[in-house]
Amino acid sequence: MLEFAVVGGGLCGLAIAHGLQARGRDWCLFEARERLGGRVLTARARNGTPVDLGATWFWPPNQPNITRLVADLGLASLTQIDDGCLLHLSDPNQPPQTVALSGQQAPDSDASTAATSEAVHGGARRVVGGTGAVIQALARPLPSERLRLGQRLVAVIDRGDHVELHLRRRDEADSTSFSDIVLTRRLVLALPPRVLDATVSFEPELPAATRQAMVATATWMACAAKAGFVYPHAFWRDNGHTGNAWVSHRQAMLGQVFDACGPIAEQADARQGAALAGFAAIRAALRPGFALSRDLLLLSQMVQLFGPQADDAAHPPELFWHDWATEPETCSPADLADDGRGAGAHPHYGDPALSLPLWGGRVFLAGTETASQGGGYLEGALVAAARVRRQLAALNDA
Ligand SMILES: Cc1cc2nc3c(=O)[nH]c(=O)nc-3n(C[C@H](O)[C@H](O)[C@H](O)COP(=O)(O)OP(=O)(O)OC[C@H]3O[C@@H](n4cnc5c(N)ncnc54)[C@H](O)[C@@H]3O)c2cc1C
Repeated sequence: MLEFAVVGGGLCGLAIAHGLQARGRDWCLFEARERLGGRVLTARARNGTPVDLGATWFWPPNQPNITRLVADLGLASLTQIDDGCLLHLSDPNQPPQTVALSGQQAPDSDASTAATSEAVHGGARRVVGGTGAVIQALARPLPSERLRLGQRLVAVIDRGDHVELHLRRRDEADSTSFSDIVLTRRLVLALPPRVLDATVSFEPELPAATRQAMVATATWMACAAKAGFVYPHAFWRDNGHTGNAWVSHRQAMLGQVFDACGPIAEQADARQGAALAGFAAIRAALRPGFALSRDLLLLSQMVQLFGPQADDAAHPPELFWHDWATEPETCSPADLADDGRGAGAHPHYGDPALSLPLWGGRVFLAGTETASQGGGYLEGALVAAARVRRQLAALNDA
């Protein structure tokens, strides 16, 4: 029997596993996907350029935990390029307008002001090498036999002095799936509460207040899709643009676009590490209808924003696309049903019912959506991990 089982190999679950390993405890982490990172996913272009298709930014003034972790892991970070100006495309038949933002002004505001540097991204920073470098650095010292990938939790049963986990695994040879049973004294569930609610059964049933809080807690960015464009050269910078753009017309493929260059591209002679990225403007339910024409439409929008070099036949960009709404490990049916409602608003996170120990302290909920600070963000994943560490320590377990 295990002392501790952690379910969910995103930033939160990995941070908890890290703490358990540091204290010499007996633990295993079970992750449904065949990779670690959860909503952190860094793809790599043919020329080596990293492209963040999930979490990208952190904001040091308000996010001490992720800021400290990046530094403690010895990772470099860079400022998101932001002179306070962006290209605003409000009409598909007109060229974009340059808008200067001051403070928290909305991009579609008519007021013309002097630009305030960092007004678009609020002083955001990115990890050099992509946010995936944080996941790699956290996972590196952990014994690989304790990191069980491709294992999906489907049921949890309370056996009084321990908990029984039912996990489903796909057989590589014949693609059939089969179940494993794992026994553990303590269980930490580091996955989005709505995903947990939709995919895992509990015996006995969880308290009603916990269930209600799980269902009410939207998974942050569950319905997001992101595109990345890797270019041989950051031509938009040559043309005086930061890469920041906002597209607000009804046929927009991408809403927010931004520069995703690595530090090499900041040098004048850069020939690699040049990238732009953006968030899908189309609602999740409508995206399958665009599957065939998607790349064409994405590139056409980039040309409208940044000119013909954005789709140069002689130096075509390498294109990336990731639709999180299609992945049940991130996006629950309730998240899909909510898509578009309260668009862009950051939900309130940290319902106290999600932080309470369950089944006499044998089960704990974690994940960024349970965090009282920084909920939804990388910061929240670490705040939740710290809270679980304190709760386990109070039980004299870890
Ligand atoms: C497109 C996008 C952009 C974002 N941008 C930013 C940003 O710029 N800055 C920022 O701070 N945050 C951002 N976020 C949010 C950030 O990614 C999350 O806050 C953070 O990664 C959450 O970590 P977590 O460990 O709590 O959850 P997750 O990363 O969701 O990890 C949960 C893990 O549980 C696994 N899992 C799910 N179900 C099961 C099961 N039944 N059994 C076993 N395992 C299971 C999942 O596969 C996953 O690995 C973004 C997210 C997205 C999708």
